[in-house]
Amino acid sequence: MWKYVKGFAEKSGTAMHPMPTVTEAVVKGLAMHMDELGKPLCPCNFYKDKAAEAKLRRWMCACDEMQIYKYCHCLLFVREDGLPITEYLPEGHEGREVYGIVTDPTPDKGRALKHKAAATPIASGDTSESPSPTR
Ligand code: SF4
Repeated sequence: MWKYVKGFAEKSGTAMHPMPTVTEAVVKGLAMHMDELGKPLCPCNFYKDKAAEAKLRRWMCACDEMQIYKYCHCLLFVREDGLPITEYLPEGHEGREVYGIVTDPTPDKGRALKHKAAATPIASGDTSESPSPTR
């Protein structure tokens, strides 16, 4: 998992959180889901049915929110100062409410699915977010 996480951070122009325990907790959660489900399901959500969710794309790390909006609510992929990037999120999104507008220092990197930004409602489905490690 570490290799993947470091590689994706580099590719997306994001950084690891300045507090290593935050990153370690999320990577551990991803690794546990890899063992349990065979997929890197986001560890920072509650799922009514993990196995069903693991068949979908939206919360596989790097999830749709990361690929579309460059926002990681787990704080795994953040800016150097530890803040998650929120500037591309739609108004009213929880990330914008909690952190305000946090700009992207590397706008030329990441957001492989940004073309879906306008058409994609925030996917909450049958999940609800649990607090991320630093909240
Ligand atoms: S919020 Fe998305 S990018 Fe961040 S750890 Fe969860 S699945 Fe990965």
